[in-house]
Amino acid sequence: MEKNFTGSFTQQEPIPDAGIAAALRVMQSGRLHRYNTAPGEVAETVLLEQEFAASIGANYCLAVASGGYAIATALRACGVKPGDNVLTNAFTLAPVPGAIAGLGARPVLVGVTEELVIDLEDLNAKLDQAKVLLLSHMRGHLCDMEALMALCDRAGVTVIEDCAHTMGATWNGVPSGRFGRFGCFSTQTYKHINSGEGGLLVSNDAKGMARAVILSGSYMLYESHLAAPPPEVFAEIRYETPNISGRMDNLRAAILRPQLKDLAQQAVRWNARYEVVEARLRDVPGLTLVPRPAAEGYVASSFQFLLLDWSSDAIAEVQNRCGARGVELKWFGGAEPVGFTSRYDSWRYAPTTAMPESDRVLAGIIDLRLPLTFSLEDCALIAEIIRAEVSAVWQAAA
Ligand SMILES: *Cc1c(COP(=O)(O)O)cnc(C)c1O
Repeated sequence: MEKNFTGSFTQQEPIPDAGIAAALRVMQSGRLHRYNTAPGEVAETVLLEQEFAASIGANYCLAVASGGYAIATALRACGVKPGDNVLTNAFTLAPVPGAIAGLGARPVLVGVTEELVIDLEDLNAKLDQAKVLLLSHMRGHLCDMEALMALCDRAGVTVIEDCAHTMGATWNGVPSGRFGRFGCFSTQTYKHINSGEGGLLVSNDAKGMARAVILSGSYMLYESHLAAPPPEVFAEIRYETPNISGRMDNLRAAILRPQLKDLAQQAVRWNARYEVVEARLRDVPGLTLVPRPAAEGYVASSFQFLLLDWSSDAIAEVQNRCGARGVELKWFGGAEPVGFTSRYDSWRYAPTTAMPESDRVLAGIIDLRLPLTFSLEDCALIAEIIRAEVSAVWQAAA
């Protein structure tokens, strides 16, 4: 009999014991708010900011309420105003164009290549339409970052990186989040470290980060931030910048600190799972793997492949057959938004010109999560099921 998969694609690992113990200490203290400290105490939130900044070699870090909030704060700190255009990826998740729209600004969508990264040709053609690019490293795929930065620098376009899927990843040894003026990270449950909800913002821009700190709701307590610019940078900014409250609390920071320590080790475990799936999906007729450039140091918490130029019916058939065997595949080409997945044309607040080449790619993107609760054997079984069902549908259509 055929073997089915019975694991859960949404089951993350438990919080490490050290995180649970630290969370208990914070709760026992009652001092959950980052500015509520005993004399001489450094808040967990502040320690997390210092440790995260050090881990990616950034001068400054700010912990906030969510990844989406980190993005909105970076946009505001870069001076994006209502009515401004902001370039961003067509292949991303809804909170990315949503953060732009939330400021009253307008997303200008840029296409996606078969490598699942931003289309630099399309970007180049649209660079004169905006002053800011919100670059989403969607599903952990990094584009040629030197080429992208050269294009944007030449055009005077500021880059903000959405690193929700690239915490721990690098391009030519440089951590993602360190190319743009700001790097924005999420610590939401499905990302690389888990506090339920949460976000981190990094930058080397002193004025930009001072604005971000005030924006996040620091009141006049910014001097307690130890991964922030010195007080003199706030001299004028503190009068000019609104408090748009969105801080992280000490409980979440306490949970995250031990996970941050483990991140490099977790990345090795994620990539081992990815490589098991990748090896088994090579040479499947009709199935296109996404190449991973040598310059990319990825953290593969999910897997994508393409069924390029397949009919919608055939893709739906693969999805149904895999689903019946316990393998949950997400399809980015679906006409209707489902779950976390939506195609750019479902964001009707962000009208765009046609992008036929991107549409072809999006119509074929299949996506699955690889949580660390899956064993290598689980990953092998998942890949075998995909291989069998893709092959069956492909042969039936031949
Ligand atoms: C999750 C996610 C975000 C937003 O993060 P939240 O913490 O959920 O607000 C932004 N961009 C991408 C690509 C994401 O997957």
